[in-house]
Amino acid sequence: MFTDVRLIADAPPEAELLAARVLSLLKDLQVGPSPVPYTVAYVHLASLNGEISGVLQPFAEQGEAVPEKIWRDLYDRHILGSGGAMSDSMSDTLQRILTSVSANISEARRSTDDFSVEVRRAVAEIDATPGRTPDVLLAAAKRLLSAAESTCARTGALQARLEAAMADAEQLRVELEEQRRAAMIDPLTGLLNRRGMDAEFEALLQVGASTAFSVLMVDIDRFKAINDSFGHSVGDALIRNVAHAIRGCIRKTDHAVRYGGEEFLVILPETTGKRAMTVAEAIRTKVGSLRLVRRTDNLQLPAITVSIGVASSYSGDDADAIVNRADRAMYQSKQEGRNQVTCA
Ligand code: GH3
Ligand code: MG
Ligand code: MG
Repeated sequence: MFTDVRLIADAPPEAELLAARVLSLLKDLQVGPSPVPYTVAYVHLASLNGEISGVLQPFAEQGEAVPEKIWRDLYDRHILGSGGAMSDSMSDTLQRILTSVSANISEARRSTDDFSVEVRRAVAEIDATPGRTPDVLLAAAKRLLSAAESTCARTGALQARLEAAMADAEQLRVELEEQRRAAMIDPLTGLLNRRGMDAEFEALLQVGASTAFSVLMVDIDRFKAINDSFGHSVGDALIRNVAHAIRGCIRKTDHAVRYGGEEFLVILPETTGKRAMTVAEAIRTKVGSLRLVRRTDNLQLPAITVSIGVASSYSGDDADAIVNRADRAMYQSKQEGRNQVTCA
């Protein structure tokens, strides 16, 4: 879905050419350029979706009409699809853009059709006039001129409407990007969630096994006791403060993840085990120095500590392997008395 929308939003240079091919294909398939068939045919001709092409190709080859249900089905499953990832407002915006683009393309076609009719008529008139007096030629030229002017005016209006559609498309792109980001963020802390972590690992592992990276598993010590003594909302506030402390100890290029309830994972790209130990130690010290006060009654909360496990990537490692090593090292920190850092 995202790829498809972005292509429409960015209007690739070949879009105009594609639009002409789409119109011709829709004619063969005996359907007008309304938004649903237009989009599906566009995705097919731009080779963006194998399944859509698989369904449309045989109809195109036979020049056979595609039943309405199939258009709708392809559109719902492959364009709107992705588990209802689009909000209603985005869906409305997309619909508006598609309607506008297809209406404008039809308008452009009508406009050029009208113009060619005028030209043809003028040529026929000149042809049919014996002697072809200057008067006849002048009248024909005037008519052509006025037809050309009217086409120009219509094209100008068309362009303005297409620009508005492009602005809508850009807004949609931004909204989709925001939604995509929001789906990767933990709402309590603003750190990445597990989905965001997977995306970062994927990007990191794609760079190649040659760049060593490290991860830290950070777990708040005896957190359940804090929840039990002071309530869940104080617990939440502590989690937020620990997240803030972690963020303050890492670089912009590192990634902090809320891995579980009171567990955090930090991904440190291009970082050796030795340097990762230093970062872990900084986090441990920073969290240990937090002095938090309950706002409602100025009650001083007990100091909190974290246990940390550090692991560095080996070549051929996958994300699970390195996370498991960091997790085991973190447990070792717990077993050896908590509030410490252990390297796997
Ligand atoms: P340990 O030192 O062994 O890690 O002890 P612990 O108490 O921190 O660990 P345990 O796994 O026994 O308990 C974790 C607690 O974290 C249990 C759960 O109630 C609490 N918790 C998990 N998620 C949240 C959350 O989002 N908010 C709050 N307030 N508490 C949470
Ligand atoms: Mg804990
Ligand atoms: Mg835990």
